[in-house]
This record gives sequence, C-alpha cells and structure tokens, in this order.
Amino acid sequence: MLYCKDCQRLVEGPVCRFCRNTKLRVPLDADFCMVAELGFQEAQMLVELFDDNGIVNTQRSVYGAGITVKLGANLDRIRVYVPYNRFEEATKLKEAFFDGEAVLLPD
Ligand SMILES: [Zn+2]
Repeated sequence: MLYCKDCQRLVEGPVCRFCRNTKLRVPLDADFCMVAELGFQEAQMLVELFDDNGIVNTQRSVYGAGITVKLGANLDRIRVYVPYNRFEEATKLKEAFFDGEAVLLPD
C-alpha cells in the first residue's frame, strides 16, 4: 500500500487511481487516510464510535460547508479520516459497526 497525499487515501501503486498522481509514498503513522465516505448521520455515528475507541479522526464535507448550509446537513456526504497507524483498526470497527452492509468507498 502506498499513500496519495493529494487524496489522503491508501492506494495500490504506482499510480493513484483516484487522481492519477504518480508521486506516491510509503504511508507514515501520522498520515490521515480516508476510511469512509458516508451520509452525514452515518458519519456522525462512525465518528462517535472512533471517539469511543480513542481513535483520532477528522471529517471533511465532500461538497463544502456552503452547500451544506444550503441543502441541509442530511444531504451532505462526509469523508472520515484516521491516522495510518489506526487505519486497520478503524476499518475493522467500521465494518463491524455497519455489519457488512454496503458502506463502500467510492471509486
Ligand atoms: Zn490521489
């Protein structure tokens, strides 16, 4: 696994399939990696789960704050990021929490 700094995602090398970036590098423990993209409410549940498990996380709106205000938070999509050294644990928690439902990262 390599890390695309532009997307903040873990990708298979040598080219990022999301942005075509070729300057990928080995992930560092502190690199924030996208673990999920979810609807606003699901994202809040996941964040709570990570908080409960002591996993530092950040969230970013896909559409940006301006759109969120316009359309309402319920229509927004939220990307949740965790540090690389907690990524695997976070992924397992996420999968267990959503019970194997289709909570897939978009291509
Ligand atoms: Zn990329």
